[in-house]
Amino acid sequence: MLKVRNLEVSYGNKIVLKDINFSVSSNEILAIIGPSGAGKTTLIKSIVKLIPFHGEIELNNHEIDLGITTVSFVPQNYGLLPWKTVEQNIYLASRIKKHSRLSKHQKEKIHELMRELKIDKLSKKFPNFISGGQAQRVALARSLSISPDLLIFDEAFSALDPVVKKTAERLFLNQWRKNPTITIMVTHNLDEALKLSTKILVLKNNGTGIIMENPLINKLSDDYSDDKNYFDCLSFLQKEVDDTWEN
Ligand code: ADP
Repeated sequence: MLKVRNLEVSYGNKIVLKDINFSVSSNEILAIIGPSGAGKTTLIKSIVKLIPFHGEIELNNHEIDLGITTVSFVPQNYGLLPWKTVEQNIYLASRIKKHSRLSKHQKEKIHELMRELKIDKLSKKFPNFISGGQAQRVALARSLSISPDLLIFDEAFSALDPVVKKTAERLFLNQWRKNPTITIMVTHNLDEALKLSTKILVLKNNGTGIIMENPLINKLSDDYSDDKNYFDCLSFLQKEVDDTWEN
């Protein structure tokens, strides 16, 4: 479980985050939403200890130690190395984690994941020669291939067109259900937050936040078309966000 207690972060005299409290267990996905400048990146940087903070951040009852804890981070631009093939990009994460070359068995497991994410035929291609949707799945495969203790997405589904996005969400959820991992998803997209999270942290302009259970009954579903509740939940969340961001 990831626990954040009384988190406060400042840059010089400016307090950016304060009184932030939440927990995320391995069968939960937390969506973080907030206006630009609300402190979403600062919160992620605090969790992975890139910046100093006050308060407590613990993963499975221990302070996060990046020498021991495996964190997978999927940035908005997917962060693939253009001079490495799709396959090499994915292998690289495991090679860095294990400090060694991969065994045949480890490579087979990665290729199984690539097949499931429907990118196995792209193995020898370079990132500049694949589509945005394919690059997103390569980044997803890379992040999942190392069985992380903590999985963080920074707007990693946002740039996809709606049809490709739906496929990406379904493939991600299938993988996540097979192997639930403590997951944090920064997004500005309320629809994505409703579909892909179990709880939602709404960050306010004043640096505080409110945490709420995802109101959607059918959460963690890529197909909500039958959920009569969906539009009610979307407008509920929209209202929360409007109220929160105004104040
Ligand atoms: P978000 O990711 O929600 O857009 P950030 O966490 O990037 O917000 O930024 C939160 C606030 O902190 C903003 O006002 C931003 O200008 C400020 N900020 C971010 N990084 C720094 C920094 N290194 N030094 C000073 N101020 C910063």
